[in-house]
Amino acid sequence: MKIAVCVKQVPNSQDKGMDFQTGNLDRKILGVTTNPYDLVAVETALRVKEHLTDSRLDVFTMGPTRAEKTIRECYALGADGGYLISDKAFSGSDVLATAYTIAKSIEGVDDYDLIICGKQTTDGDTGQVGASISVRLDIPYIGNVVEIVKVNQDYVIVKQDLGTKVQTVKCPLPCLMAVEKDIYVPRLASLKLKIQAKKKEVFPLRFNDNYDQNSIGAKGSPTKVRKVYTKKVTEKSNVLNVSVKDAKKIIYDGLGIKNDEK
Ligand code: FAD
Repeated sequence: MKIAVCVKQVPNSQDKGMDFQTGNLDRKILGVTTNPYDLVAVETALRVKEHLTDSRLDVFTMGPTRAEKTIRECYALGADGGYLISDKAFSGSDVLATAYTIAKSIEGVDDYDLIICGKQTTDGDTGQVGASISVRLDIPYIGNVVEIVKVNQDYVIVKQDLGTKVQTVKCPLPCLMAVEKDIYVPRLASLKLKIQAKKKEVFPLRFNDNYDQNSIGAKGSPTKVRKVYTKKVTEKSNVLNVSVKDAKKIIYDGLGIKNDEK
């Protein structure tokens, strides 16, 4: 089984590096870390890899060259190969362009059976990249995965938490799934792998003819950030000591939603 995991390096904090004039984050002045939800995705992949012998796990990171650190972190956890998608041509990418670039990169490396993404990132936070990659690769997408019931070379059976119910789905491979944060607790890196990780090769993926230049970077990004601001709190809040049932009624009434249960 060939498994790919998409892992993003994210800023430690959004607050200090926000340029309110341009609406962009000044990523140079921020500390960075690996998106915690993506470590859950890596853990999920490691468990599949351990379950199915002869499996391989590669990680893909799109970001500046310093995102190499995130790949080494994944090596220390047990990833076999790490691809750093980094080029000036890719900068300024919104969700659409990011997903396109990651999909093209994955496609260019191998035919993966299973691609795993995190639930969302802690910076952009849209939770759209995974589904968008699957569209670009023309493979099925399973979101909100909370449990892997069965996995083999041909299909996966997983449980999806849809908010109102948990449903079990069987999906042929290849497919892409986005895992929820509680599916597994990420393991700690072993000392042996940590030492090996320092020496392992990280494979750079730069802009080339495989990428359509109109679909990448700022050119391929239709999103326009009009304004970024912190909302001023002007109204005083009311604390209501009411039952859950009454609270529900107040909320539904406030939103003008009809609720048969009230
Ligand atoms: P989500 O959809 O929340 O992520 C879901 C999952 O997808 C993650 O858990 C992970 O598994 C995977 N994933 C997401 N992003 C990556 C990644 N980069 N690498 C690997 N896996 C990933 N960001 C920049 O860093 N540089 C820029 O120059 C830049 N310019 C932007 C310009 C505009 C106009 C806009 C709107 C955004 C820009 N961004 C930039 C932000 C960037 O578009 C988003 O961070 C990116 O699309 C990912 O979206 P998200 O963070 O909401 O991911």
